[in-house]
Amino acid sequence: MTLPLAVVAQTPSKTPPPPTLVVFLTVDQMRSDYFQRFLPQLDGGLGRLYRHGAFFTRAYQDHAITETAPGHSTVLSGRFPRHTGIVTNSAGVLDVETPLVAMNDTGASPFRFRGSTLIDWMRVKDWRSRALSVSRKDRAAILPIGRAHQTAVWFVANGNFTTSTYYSDTLPTWLSDFNAKRLPLSFAGTSWKPLLPDSAYPEPDTVATESGGKDYVFPHKLPRDSTVMRALQQTPMMDQLTLEVALAGVRAMKLGEGPVPDLLAISLSSTDAVGHRYGPDSKELHDQIVRLDQYLGAFLDSLYAMRDSSRVVIALTADHGVAPYPEVHSGRYPNKGAGYVNVSGFFEYIRQAVGRKGIDTTAWRFSEGCLYVDRDKLSAGGVSPDSLERVFTTEVKAVPGVARIDVVKTLAQKDTIHDFVARRWFHMFPDDVAPELVVTLKPYWYWGEPGGSASHGSVYDYDAWVPVLFYGPAFKPGKYTTVVRTVDMAPTLANVVGAKPTEKLDGHVLWEALSAPHRPTVVAAAGR
Ligand SMILES: [Zn+2]
Repeated sequence: MTLPLAVVAQTPSKTPPPPTLVVFLTVDQMRSDYFQRFLPQLDGGLGRLYRHGAFFTRAYQDHAITETAPGHSTVLSGRFPRHTGIVTNSAGVLDVETPLVAMNDTGASPFRFRGSTLIDWMRVKDWRSRALSVSRKDRAAILPIGRAHQTAVWFVANGNFTTSTYYSDTLPTWLSDFNAKRLPLSFAGTSWKPLLPDSAYPEPDTVATESGGKDYVFPHKLPRDSTVMRALQQTPMMDQLTLEVALAGVRAMKLGEGPVPDLLAISLSSTDAVGHRYGPDSKELHDQIVRLDQYLGAFLDSLYAMRDSSRVVIALTADHGVAPYPEVHSGRYPNKGAGYVNVSGFFEYIRQAVGRKGIDTTAWRFSEGCLYVDRDKLSAGGVSPDSLERVFTTEVKAVPGVARIDVVKTLAQKDTIHDFVARRWFHMFPDDVAPELVVTLKPYWYWGEPGGSASHGSVYDYDAWVPVLFYGPAFKPGKYTTVVRTVDMAPTLANVVGAKPTEKLDGHVLWEALSAPHRPTVVAAAGR
């Protein structure tokens, strides 16, 4: 085994023992301010990590399309979507070439993911390091470990956790055993009720905007039949199940027993499901967070009962935040006056005009604020792509709620330090899959029509501001106000386990939070 760096321990007496397990938690749709908002009631895992960990109060997913797949691609790669190649959920992990194991269904793989992640660097240092990645969602299980052929498992509608043939042709025995317990069925016929007394929730429970105007008041009854598998995914209890399958995996795979460090990545999806369905101002979201806090507390207790806590490193972040419904004005967010933008009528008008010229209509595509143009096809059909884009820009800019339209090719020339909109769009696309134009709405405006879910995906801080938290003896507890990005997490964790990134990263080591950094002398001498 070779040492990756010329390492000088700064304070040898405080050097913690080398970690045997890195636990990386991603809470899907967890806004950073939820920690402060609910802190007095967080006496479980979230509270413990927040109070005794190193918490960065100004941390961001510093890219424009703040969705699950791009967000998860940044957290353990140390690179923006521009370099991971994961730019939207719809161009995420679905892959017909790698079906689900033991199910006749479209599978998933990291085939679009570019480059390496933490587990790859750990395995370059010592191939005995292993990873288990678990989530309710395929993309959230797959992307944190990049292309590594390790163990990634996720939940499917039949109530089982599975994987795809990218990883294995069979399920591991421990996972089949877990599925055989049919735990999701134990929730059939039960109800999701608030955990705390009603007086603990200041939020109104009778907001008809929530949940499409149906079933928006507690208690939320779960079906008595097998459709409970689907309904369960909209409740906090799905997180409990995800944490249980993770513990079963740790036990069976003997992760964290040493001598080399392993990685356990867990992405918890219920905050996202509850946030979409009821919004960030709802009583349901409040209950989701206090329940997650309890589940996470129990998880940490079980984990520390199995493994030496001084050898465990924990990190926590989120893939994105969320915006309130434009119709809901809780006073918590300045979203008065926000509405909906729908340009599909205008877009369809142009698409049909293009089609009438005999041009393949996919030469002109608009999705998630991005205009994709096949310049060759349009030109060959006698349509000038430039004039078409000019018409688009003029018309769409005039629509209420539209803030600006940027030409993607020119983003690099903009002031990406001060212009955060340009910077976040610049961090978004590899050149070979980039759209021509990107449309940014005004803050708190939504794409689409009223009546849908609460949403995220914008460039603004309410969608980009996430917790970045580290916990364990390798870190100095405290609240840090330096501006950091989720891409800084992987290099920081690599430093803690003594692994070296094998490619150029967008992020860098968050030295200030480390109790005994593996710092090369040359960097120390530069006095950063
Ligand atoms: Zn979401």
